[in-house]
Amino acid sequence: MNALRLTSLNSDDNRQTVITVDNVKIGEDFVVIAGPCSVESEEQTIKTAQKVKEAGANMLRGGAFKPRTSPYDFQGLGLKGLKILEKAKKETGLPVVTEVTDPRDVSWVCEYADVLQIGTRNMQNFSLLKEVGKVNKPALLKRGMYSTLKEWLNCAEYILAEGNPNVILCERGIRTFETYTRNTLDLSIVPSVKEVSHLPVIVDPSHGTGRLSVIEPMSLAAMAAGADGIMVEVHHNPCEALCDKDQAMPPGMFAVLMKKLWVLRSCMDEINQINGNKTLE
Ligand code: PEP
Ligand code: MN
Repeated sequence: MNALRLTSLNSDDNRQTVITVDNVKIGEDFVVIAGPCSVESEEQTIKTAQKVKEAGANMLRGGAFKPRTSPYDFQGLGLKGLKILEKAKKETGLPVVTEVTDPRDVSWVCEYADVLQIGTRNMQNFSLLKEVGKVNKPALLKRGMYSTLKEWLNCAEYILAEGNPNVILCERGIRTFETYTRNTLDLSIVPSVKEVSHLPVIVDPSHGTGRLSVIEPMSLAAMAAGADGIMVEVHHNPCEALCDKDQAMPPGMFAVLMKKLWVLRSCMDEINQINGNKTLE
């Protein structure tokens, strides 16, 4: 039996992992990570970062290394992109989440990233997982698009087993027969993770649906399902986006989403009080 020794919930104390990144506490507060799919230019990244900050986002996302399905699509700006993210952090104060795709890049990408993202296509890249396990930056581990909960947790286990205890799980949709949405967002995985693991779990409704009109309801549903946060793609001018244009939220729409999340949050506080009220049994 291959036990999940480090990622399992210890039934004696029920303790959840809280990961602190600057002033953000993932696993304690509901965290919103927002920003462009890819870092395209300084102007695009900083304008978008300022907009998401104004709307109340807690962290900035943006890819400098893009794992694209086609080798002819924009692959990201690499080091130049990481330097732009560093500047965006200086301007806004938002900590940066960015993807690392190659085990050889992990140690130097750490100089620019506050959280290292591992994408769906690399969830089972075991040499990448082991490298990320050796550094002192939290990892955001996306669920593989064909992966079960157990396979996903085993990948988190690889990171923890190397000594890095800070893994954030991210549901980003799985492949099903449905084609209307880009992927099928599996929100049932959120309470399922909570049942078996102490790790925080967030939801990416942008890649999970690929449809602008579906991102807001799925973000609200993610909060209602008990997620520790969401990661949303926002672009200051979506029609110019070089990557994932159809799912890029314009800043105005993102600001409305943030307001609705805020309202739902107080409802959730009331609902959680009901859950905590033992006299209802
Ligand atoms: C991303 O978040 O930039 C990304 C590429 O997502 P995924 O790995 O889920 O496709
Ligand atoms: Mn994207």
